[in-house]
Amino acid sequence: MAECPFCSIALGLSDTKPVAESEHSVAFEDLYPLSSGHTLIIPRRHEADLFQLDKEERADAWILVDTVQQLLVGRLSPDGFNIGVNVSETAGQTVEHAHIHLVPRFHGDVEDPRGGIRWVIPDKAPYWD
Ligand code: AMP
Ligand code: ZN
Repeated sequence: MAECPFCSIALGLSDTKPVAESEHSVAFEDLYPLSSGHTLIIPRRHEADLFQLDKEERADAWILVDTVQQLLVGRLSPDGFNIGVNVSETAGQTVEHAHIHLVPRFHGDVEDPRGGIRWVIPDKAPYWD
């Protein structure tokens, strides 16, 4: 999958260098970060749908999420995190190589953070109104 930007990163063919790696997974900074430290965790194997990873790949990816979270706590002391996966174009996926977004959050980074990932469907997000 030479045309896949995330395969290029996983294979070491890109200027983007991993921030952490494991047997089946690679983590690197998002090129258009939502916040300082926004990191993507991907399987080394090209697969669009996170749910199609085998159990070992999936467990390995989530363990790398934990590793990166600890790195980010040490480097940036964020006040919280959003973790998200867009599965399919319908759900907003724009790069067809499965990836987990790990987004550090900082107090005051948005005026009203309530709802977090509920904002993927803005009309339904503010259930507290
Ligand atoms: P999604 O919409 O869930 O598929 O997210 C794709 C993510 O990949 C976005 O947050 C982009 O900023 C990020 N992205 C796109 N191209 C690259 C790239 N070449 N290197 C790193 N991150 C990228
Ligand atoms: Zn790929």
